[in-house]
Order: sequence, then C-alpha cells, then structure tokens
Amino acid sequence: MAEPSIWNEPGPECVLCPPLRFRFNEMVDLPGESSVLARDTGFLLMPDVAPLAVGHLLLVTRRHHQCAGAFGYRMWEQACHWRDRVSGLYERAYGSGELLLFEHGPADSQGGGACIDHAHWHFLPGTPGVRAVLEGGGLTGTPAGHATLRTRFRTGRSYLLVEEEGRATVHPGDGVRSQFLRWAVAAARPGEPWRWQETFGLPESKHRFLRTVQGMRRAIDAERFAAHAGGSTADGAIGQCRDSHQ
Ligand SMILES: [Zn+2]
Ligand SMILES: [Zn+2]
Repeated sequence: MAEPSIWNEPGPECVLCPPLRFRFNEMVDLPGESSVLARDTGFLLMPDVAPLAVGHLLLVTRRHHQCAGAFGYRMWEQACHWRDRVSGLYERAYGSGELLLFEHGPADSQGGGACIDHAHWHFLPGTPGVRAVLEGGGLTGTPAGHATLRTRFRTGRSYLLVEEEGRATVHPGDGVRSQFLRWAVAAARPGEPWRWQETFGLPESKHRFLRTVQGMRRAIDAERFAAHAGGSTADGAIGQCRDSHQ
C-alpha cells in the first residue's frame, strides 16, 4: 500500500528550510552549507549551531516535515539508518557508539518543547540521562516506534522521543517547557547556561561546533576507508526505533 507523504508547506520563516537554513551560522560566522557532514535524498546531517557537547548533531529533513510522526514508512526507515550510522561515527570519533537520540515532536506549532517546527533529530554522544529526567518529572515513557509516533501526531498530541541505551521511548510532550532537551541535559550540569541564546555565538560554543565538524569529518573518512577495504560500516547498532514499526 502506498503511504501518503505528509509534509506541511514551510512558513517563510522556517530556519531549517532554504533560504534561511544557515542563517544562524552566518550570523556568527560559522560555516553553513559547507558544515553539512553527509546527506541522502531525505536528510542532512549537520552540527547543531549551539552544541550542548562536542558531537552534538542534527538530522534534518531536506523537505519541510513537521516531525518524525509525519514520516511515511520509507522516510522512517531512512531516519533509522541514519541513527545507526551516527552511532558508528561516534564509535570511530569518541570510542563508543552510545548515543542519545532526541526529538521534540510538535503536534502543533511550538508544541512538544520544540523551538523549530521542522522535523529534526538531535544526537549526542554518550548517555546523559534524559529519560531519567523525564520520568523524574512524571513524564512516563512507553516503547516507541514509527506507528506510535504516527498515532500521536495524527491525534494531535505532541511527543518527546528519547533513545538511550538502545531503547526508544515516547513521552507526553504537550505543555513541556521550550528547549526541553537543552534543559534536561543541563539538569545534570547545574549552573551551566542551557538556553541556546545564551551560548550561541560565544567562543566556547563555536569551538565545540568546529571540533564536532573536525571529529565527524575524520570519522566519515575512516568510514569510507573501511568500506573500501571491505570492512563493515556501522552495522549491528540497530536502534529499537525500527523494531515496533507495523
Ligand atoms: Zn522547514
Ligand atoms: Zn530541537
């Protein structure tokens, strides 16, 4: 059965659609288009413009989709493949393929604590403990997959998608504070600024961005080299995100 492709027309102000996609990068003199690390027909992989840590990446849809709950099956599979690839890149760059995958899935404009209504997955190396922060705040999770996110999206409920320790869970996202990921990661590092506006463009933040580009480029080169040499590339790290697709 053909799946309907669902996307919204981007508002003229969408900062993850052209022509504004790299506006923030330009504002603080960081590379824009040239910082895109990898791409395929559906997605761009790029560093977050105000990274929470070295290695903070965004997987951004090339066309304007509201959230992963709006993806058809093919887009979802493609996104899960990217998740596995990022894990492989982290392993090459930082010695461990452990990662946090996080999405603010807005069912409506600015819902789910998202600051941008354009589908994007955050990736951070390691396991900062975001699920524990959510559950500690009463936002209990249930196993997540394509079908669960679609149902939430179609019934107008915002969600938070978290994958940590290879387990994906979806949490209620209606009414959570904006920039929730930033806040939750910072909850483990009290006293540090977490709003992106507070760090964006500062030397430390720009340094993280450039170190991320450098580390990921090296990892991509190593990945390419291994592929040429007949080695495997990032397979084996199968995210649970694809397990419960129906
Ligand atoms: Zn957009
Ligand atoms: Zn975000």
